[in-house]
This record gives sequence, C-alpha cells and structure tokens, in this order.
Amino acid sequence: METLNIAVIGAGVVGLAIAAKISEGNKDVYVFEKNKKFGQETSSHNSGVLHSGIHYPKNSLKAILCVKGNQKTYEICEKHGIPYKKLGKLTVAIEEDEIEELEKLMRMGQDNGVEGAKYLDREEVKKLEPNVNVEKALYTPSTGIVEPDELMNHFYQKARRNGAVFAMETEVTSIRKTTDGYEIGGTSVGEKFSVTAKTIINCAGLYADKVAEMVGLDVDKLGYRLHLCKGDYFRLLGKPPVKMLVYPVPKGAGLGIHLTPDLDGSIRLGPNAYYVNKITYEVESSEKEFLEDVARFLPSVRDSRIQADSSGIRPKLQGPNDNFKDFAIRHEHDRGFFGFINLIGIESPGLTAAPAIAEYVSELYENEVKR
Ligand SMILES: Cc1cc2nc3c(=O)[nH]c(=O)nc-3n(C[C@H](O)[C@H](O)[C@H](O)COP(=O)(O)OP(=O)(O)OC[C@H]3O[C@@H](n4cnc5c(N)ncnc54)[C@H](O)[C@@H]3O)c2cc1C
Repeated sequence: METLNIAVIGAGVVGLAIAAKISEGNKDVYVFEKNKKFGQETSSHNSGVLHSGIHYPKNSLKAILCVKGNQKTYEICEKHGIPYKKLGKLTVAIEEDEIEELEKLMRMGQDNGVEGAKYLDREEVKKLEPNVNVEKALYTPSTGIVEPDELMNHFYQKARRNGAVFAMETEVTSIRKTTDGYEIGGTSVGEKFSVTAKTIINCAGLYADKVAEMVGLDVDKLGYRLHLCKGDYFRLLGKPPVKMLVYPVPKGAGLGIHLTPDLDGSIRLGPNAYYVNKITYEVESSEKEFLEDVARFLPSVRDSRIQADSSGIRPKLQGPNDNFKDFAIRHEHDRGFFGFINLIGIESPGLTAAPAIAEYVSELYENEVKR
C-alpha cells in the first residue's frame, strides 16, 4: 500500500492555504476533496469580508489569526493581482444603549492590535455614508472584501506548483491508526481506495467532527461536536445606498444582518444566524425580517426591493446557549494520535485567517510532527 507523507482532508480555503504552505518544504502532500472542485462549501458561501479582528477576545486564536491573516491576505492579493477592496467598515450603535457594545469592540480591537479603529459621531457618519442614520459608529479601516474563489485558486495553484497532489471526488470515510501513521479509506471517483499517511491534517469544515470521530476521538467528550448555524443573504436591487461595509453591533450567534458590498459595488444584506440540523442552501428567511432589521440604521431600505440571494452554514463549536468558542486547532499526540492535526470549528473569520492558520499549522507540523 502506498504511504503518503501528509494527507490534508478538505480543499476549502483552509485546506488549500495549508497545502500551499506546507508543500513549500515538504514532499508528498496529498489533498483529498469529496467534491469535483475545491471550495464548493463554506468557503464559497460567505460574505468575502476580510475582518479586522475587533470581534474576538484577547489572545484567542480567532483574534491572533484574524489580525495576522487580514494583513497577509491583503499582501497576497496585492502581489498576485487578486481582486480586493479595502473599503473600511462602520459598526453602528443605533440607540444610545448600544454604545456600550461599540466600546467593548473598541477594547477588543485595541487588545488585539487592530490599527486605526476610531469612533465617529452621527454627523461624521453622515459625511461618509449619507443614508446611514445612527447615534455613533466604530470605524475600522482595515476591513475589506476579497473574491474568495480567486484567493482559493491562488492557494490551489501554488500548492500544485510546489508538487502537492489533489485527489478530487475523493471522500474519506474511514481512518485507522497504524504503528507509524494512519490507514485512510474511502471512495475515489466511485471506486474504493485505501492509502496510508504519516500525517493527517483534518480541514473538513462542516464535517471536521465526523473526520475526528473516524480516527477514534471522542468528539462529544472533547467538545468537538459541530453545530450547524445557517445564514441567509438577500440582494438589494437598484442603486447601492452605501459604499462601505455597515454592521449593527453583534447579537446572538452571528454578527447581525449587515450590508456588504460585492466587488462590483452591489449590496448583499445578511447573513442572519439560525441553527439547523441539515445542510441545505435554500434561503429560508423572510424578506420582511431583513428589511426591518436593516431599516433600523438605513431607513431608505424600506423603499428598496430585495431578492433572495444565497446562504452559507457556519461550522460552530458554539451551541445555541453557549458563550464564545475559539477555533480548535490541535495536534492530538497527547490523546494517542501522533501526527493527527485537527482543525474544528473554523467558522468566521476563517476566510480572513486562512494564510495565518496555514502558517500556524505548518509550525505545529515542523515543531511537533516532522521526524
Ligand atoms: C454565512 C457565512 C459567512 C461568512 N463570512 C465570512 C467572512 O466574511 N469573512 C471570513 O473571514 N469568514 C467568513 N465565514 C467563514 C469562512 O467562510 C470559513 O471559516 C471558511 O470558509 C472555512 O474554510 P474551510 O476550508 O475550513 O471549510 P470548507 O470551505 O467547508 O472546506 C472543507 C472542505 O472539506 C471537504 N470535506 C469534508 N469532509 C470530507 C471528507 N470526508 N473527505 C473529503 N473531503 C471532505 C468539503 O467538501 C469541503 O470542500 C463565513 C461563513 C459563513 C457560513
């Protein structure tokens, strides 16, 4: 049986970024992806926002990897001609009592090293975005948008140039620990396959808990069970009423229904956040809910038409009644699985953080696994 050096499971933005990085100094990197093409799941069902890092507690992986990933992604885009726009973002306090939430975000931003964040009053906001009507806003200049498919294609091409091999339409369905690695089984283009790999990097997104379970980890005991949290988008028809990203203060499991310009300037509203039991991408929310939420800070939206656009599903470690949960990125050697690296709960800001996650995982590999 063939023995691979490194098997990456999943070719979303995270698996691709890791494959691109780890193949710089390592031979025999294989990426297994169950779909025909890379990036067909969460990595292409998101807002495409490069977050600044104001939403995550100090020293969390989300905070560290978001701030670092934001900077790195802009550098990559600039260097390789990947479409992006550093538009800046307004997080808005609509009522007086939401100002406290802005202050919390400002403090987290300062703790996390987010540069250039500042408060704007009602008039200053009006100068930037005349249609937005709020008490106060937190402006973060480093928030922007990127074209996720082009970013993923960059990582994919880079990994291939470095010699990484992509096995598409290849679903991993079993993993068994052997004396010096793992036996991986599954189906590839309709045929059964089996290979051994010294190292496994689990980047399976919405299925990362299932992949961890395959090797024998007790997912429930370890807190790795994923909760699926869906977010729908509507598209605003007609002339765009804003140029920047405009978000309310976060509430519940998501960041609140916000306005995100696409690279062509057209505006999407969303995503909202609701927990689901199965993975389907139909828009299930009502137009009315979206219009009412957004009208709180953009009154003119009441005269606009919107249409259902798309949806995405967050792989969350945080269940409906839980507080903040961080990314779980871990070499599972102390649990008896040397060479098995898990990435679980890679929800937002996973797109922003991808190149920083890739560096973090490569370092884990070089320092703890490589023999
Ligand atoms: C609604 C929404 C909005 C978001 N907005 C943003 C944003 O604006 N900015 C931001 O930074 N982040 C955002 N995110 C988060 C971001 O999209 C994710 O963190 C990121 O895409 C995760 O990438 P991934 O590679 O881990 O997962 P995925 O893209 O899901 O990739 C995992 C891959 O693994 C494959 N796979 C799974 N199981 C197997 C198996 N057994 N065998 C083989 N292959 C397998 C899947 O087919 C898939 O291609 C958003 C997420 C959602 C849902």
